[in-house]
Amino acid sequence: RTDTKHQYKPDTQTDTATSKQAITASDSKPIRIGFAMDTLVEERWKKDRDFFVQAAKQMGADVVVTSANSDDAKQIEQAEQMIADGIDVLVLVPHNADATAAIVNRAHKAGVKVLSYDRLVKNADVDLYVSFDNEQVGRLQADAITALVPEGKYVYIGGADTDNNAHMFKQGVFDILQPKIDAGQIRVVYDQWSKDWKPASALQHMREALKASHNDIDAVIVANDGTAGGVVRALQEQGLAGQIPVAGQDGDLAAARRIVQGTQTMTVYKPIGKLAQVTAELAIKLAKNEKIATDRQVNNGKIEVPSVLLAPIAVDISNIDNTLIADGFHTKADIYGKD
Ligand code: BGC
Repeated sequence: RTDTKHQYKPDTQTDTATSKQAITASDSKPIRIGFAMDTLVEERWKKDRDFFVQAAKQMGADVVVTSANSDDAKQIEQAEQMIADGIDVLVLVPHNADATAAIVNRAHKAGVKVLSYDRLVKNADVDLYVSFDNEQVGRLQADAITALVPEGKYVYIGGADTDNNAHMFKQGVFDILQPKIDAGQIRVVYDQWSKDWKPASALQHMREALKASHNDIDAVIVANDGTAGGVVRALQEQGLAGQIPVAGQDGDLAAARRIVQGTQTMTVYKPIGKLAQVTAELAIKLAKNEKIATDRQVNNGKIEVPSVLLAPIAVDISNIDNTLIADGFHTKADIYGKD
């Protein structure tokens, strides 16, 4: 289902020495990018930060990074400070899809364009959205699990209700499950969001789901690997880890290890280096008011946001070496242990 036709091809020209000169703003100061992150808790976000800063620097831009620690007021304050300090463009990972519309408005008042990174800001005139095909993430999870468990009782543990991605992941999962639910093959016996993507919240939910169904559950789809860790712990408490298929997302090291150990069935790998590279290129173009050609659009409740969506990749025990390890996302020793 991955629509390769629509894959964004990074503009390799941007890496050349000529464009490095072109990048310099008219007053010959380097372009300053504000990278307003929500959190650095999940493993992936540290990669996003490091890859993004590195890519932007290689292109001759400066980056200021903040992280809001899942606090809406703090994220708004940090972004406002960056805008006041004179950034040329804002790359924003919203904690709360709705609350951050205020940041977009404020940036625009100051003539600063906003790129929504990985997560979409809703109900605002976002200039550009760069992410993965997030519904496809959910479809890949459900494809993998329904292939193993074509019939039975399913649990869905979602991400943070405040994150638009959590809704897109769930949409993708139910694209695949719904026809099977309608046909009476699958029954979803439990379905909950996890507050702020917390593994502890997912752990509680899974305990509840197991209790309510007297452990009679056939498969679990979980919105990311952090929360999948909570789910696997709840299964372990009941002696069920490894017996019930579990899907996660992110390609976290802990999840890769669980896949090798057999307590998690699959994860969805999103090549973060590519996302950061493409974003750095496009953020610089936005700062320079250059036209950006996109062939995707995502509705955010206010406008059709011009979008670049990269392809996620399903990873299980059969292809972990050719994906996570081959890409250098994790080392073989880290995943399999040193001996
Ligand atoms: C991201 C996931 C991440 C989650 C929690 C989502 O918006 O797409 O990769 O695991 O947030 O931080």
